[in-house]
Amino acid sequence: MNDTPQHPTANTNTAWTPGDAEELYAVKTWSAGFFGVNDKGHVCVHPLPGEDLAIDIPEVIDAAVKEGCSFPLILRFQDIISARVRRLNLTFREAIDEAGYEGEYRSIYPIKVNQLHEVVAEVMEAGKPFNLGLECGSRAELMAALALVSDDTLLLCNGVKDHSMLTLMLNAQQLGQQVLPVIEKYSEFEQLMVLADQRGLVGDKAPRLGVRVKLSTRGAGRWFESGGSGSKFGLTVPELVKLVHELEKRRLREHLALLHFHLGSQISDTQVLRTAVREIAQFYADLQERGVPVQYLDVGGGLGVNYGGSYGGEYEDVESSINYGLKEYANVVVFAVKDICQERSVPMPTLLSESGRALTAHHSMLVVPLLGVHRPDAPPMPEPLAEQPAVVKRMQAAAKEASHVHTRGKLTEVIHDAQEAQLEAEQLARLGYLNIEHLAFVESLYWRTAREVLQRFAALDIEPRPAEQLELEKQLTDLYLCDFSVFQSILDHWAIGQVFPVMPLDRLDEEPRRRGQIVDLTCDSDGKISQYVSSNANKAWLPLHDYRPGEPYYLGVFLVGAYQEILGDAHNLLGRVGEAHVYASADEPGNFWIEETIKAISIKDMLSTVQYFPSDLDRRMTELIRRKIEAGVVKPAEGMRILNNYTKRLDDSTYCDTDSVAAPQG
Ligand SMILES: *Cc1c(COP(=O)(O)O)cnc(C)c1O
Repeated sequence: MNDTPQHPTANTNTAWTPGDAEELYAVKTWSAGFFGVNDKGHVCVHPLPGEDLAIDIPEVIDAAVKEGCSFPLILRFQDIISARVRRLNLTFREAIDEAGYEGEYRSIYPIKVNQLHEVVAEVMEAGKPFNLGLECGSRAELMAALALVSDDTLLLCNGVKDHSMLTLMLNAQQLGQQVLPVIEKYSEFEQLMVLADQRGLVGDKAPRLGVRVKLSTRGAGRWFESGGSGSKFGLTVPELVKLVHELEKRRLREHLALLHFHLGSQISDTQVLRTAVREIAQFYADLQERGVPVQYLDVGGGLGVNYGGSYGGEYEDVESSINYGLKEYANVVVFAVKDICQERSVPMPTLLSESGRALTAHHSMLVVPLLGVHRPDAPPMPEPLAEQPAVVKRMQAAAKEASHVHTRGKLTEVIHDAQEAQLEAEQLARLGYLNIEHLAFVESLYWRTAREVLQRFAALDIEPRPAEQLELEKQLTDLYLCDFSVFQSILDHWAIGQVFPVMPLDRLDEEPRRRGQIVDLTCDSDGKISQYVSSNANKAWLPLHDYRPGEPYYLGVFLVGAYQEILGDAHNLLGRVGEAHVYASADEPGNFWIEETIKAISIKDMLSTVQYFPSDLDRRMTELIRRKIEAGVVKPAEGMRILNNYTKRLDDSTYCDTDSVAAPQG
C-alpha cells in the first residue's frame, strides 16, 4: 500500500498546475473572490476587493505560530468583514438608484451571528458611513449592544422580552438612544404599555416600537419554519390590527416605527422573498393609508451565502448553495416595495435588512493540521495452514476472478460475491464456527478484491459511475485524522448537514491523488466531514495529497464566520480554539500583520465549566500520589515528577499537540 494514485484526475497528460487545484476544489464558486491559489501552490486571500494585494495563508500560519498560537486555529481576516459591509450597502444603494426608489436602505447586523467583540466592532466601524444598526435577541446581547451604540445607531430587539428587557429598552429610549423593541407576542405590547403607564411615559415620551408580523408566505430552505403562520414569533394579522387600534386609542399612532418579518436563514430562492416582501408592503401601505406613519420596513435575515458550489442547482445540496447574488436580492426587495408604494400612492419607507450570515461568513477560516492517515483496508495475510472452510474458498475464488474480469456486469457480480462471503465470514465467526486466523485472511482478501474491482471499474470510465463503484470509492477512502472537533467548529455540518468548503492549504502545485475523508478527534462516529465541495462527481470524499510523516499538512475549512463559532459544543471537552486576527497592509512583509491573538481555552478552564476545579483535582492527585509513595509503589522523586506533569497539563489547550501524536499509518 504505497502511493499508487487512487484518484488520477481528468488532467493526466499535462502537468498539474495550481489552477487545476483551484478548479478541483471549486474555489471560484464559494470564495466570493476572496480566496485563490498562488503560483507556489498555496491558498492565498485577497481581502481588499479591487486591489491586487494577496496574502499567502501558510505564511500567516507560520507568523501566528511564532506568536504562540496553537492548533486548531481560527484566522480572521478583518478586512473581509468591512469589504462585505461595504458591498452589501453599496449594492442596495445601486438598486435604489436604478429603481428610482425614494427612500434609503440601512443594514442591521444581528449580533447572534457572531458576537465576538472584535467582529461586531469591525462591522460597526465599516458600517458608520452607511448608518448601520444592530439587532439583538436576548438580554445578554441587549446589554452588550446598549453599551456599543451611539445615539443615531438603530438598535432593534427581537426575541422574547421580559419585564427587565423592556425596562432596559425604555431606559435607553429615555437616554435618547434609537432602541426599538420589536413586538413578537401581543402580551409584550401589553406589558410595554403597563410599564409606560407606571412611569408616566405619555405623549412624546411614550415608547416607540416595531412589530414582527407573521406572514402567510412561508420561507424556503432549512429554516423555513421561522416564517409562515406556524412560526414561533410574530403577531397574527388580527393581533396587528388590535395593536394599531390600541395605539390609536392612546393617540400614539406615530409610535409604531417599524414592520418586520423574518423568513429564516439562507433563503434559497428569491421567489419566496419577493412574495413575502409584497405581502408586508401591502400591510405597510394599509397602515399608511389609515394614518399610521411607519418609518421602517425590515425584511429580516436570510440573505444567503454560497457555501457549496455553483449557482443554478447544478450542485445537489441546494440548501447549501443559493440561486441568486447580492444584486438580485437587493433588486427583489427594492423593486417590490417601490411597486406597491407607487400603486398605492404612499411614501416609500426606509428599508432595513438584518443580514448577518452574508456579512460575516467569509471572514474567518479554520486551520486544522493533519495528525495522520488511516487506510481502512487490511494488510495482505498469508494463507492459514489449516483446512480451508467453504467461505474462505469462496472468497479466494472471488479474489481470483477479480484479477481477470473486464465487463461492468462481471465486476458487479464479483464484488457482490466478495461482499456476501465477507458478511458470512463475520456471521460464522460470531457463532464460533470460524477462527480469528481465517476471519483475518478472508478480510484481507476482501480488501484486495475491492481494490482490484475498483481499479477495473475506473478503467472502464463509465459515466455516470455505477452505484457499486461509488460505494467502493467510499469504502476504500483514506481517513485523514485532523486536530479539531466538528462539534466545536462546524456544528451545522453535524446538525443540519450544512456543507463547508474544505481544501489543503499547500502542495496545490501537486496533483492530489488520494481519496480522503476528514475525521476529527472526538470519539464519535459522527465526528467527520461527510460531504465536500469539489468539481469531483463523488462528493463523499475529497481528493487529497499523500501523507508524508513528519511534514505538516494543513487543511482549511472556509466560510465559518457565521454561527459556527458561537454554536460550538464542547463534545469530549474539546473547547474553544485559538485565533489570530489578521489585517492586510501593503507596507508589511507578506502584506499582513497580526493585530491580536486569542488563546484557546485551557483544560483547566474547560473542566471548571463542568464543575471540576483545578484546586480540587490537584488536591486529589496529591493525595493519591502521597498514598502510592507511602505504599512503596513509586519512589518520592518519581511520584513528584508524575504529580508535576499532571499539574502542568492543566494549562494546555484541550486539543492535541500536533507534533507528538502517535500517527496511525496504513
Ligand atoms: C437569525 C436572524 C437574523 C439573521 O439571519 P441571516 O440569515 O444570518 O442573515 C436576522 N433576523 C432575525 C430576526 C433572526 O432571528
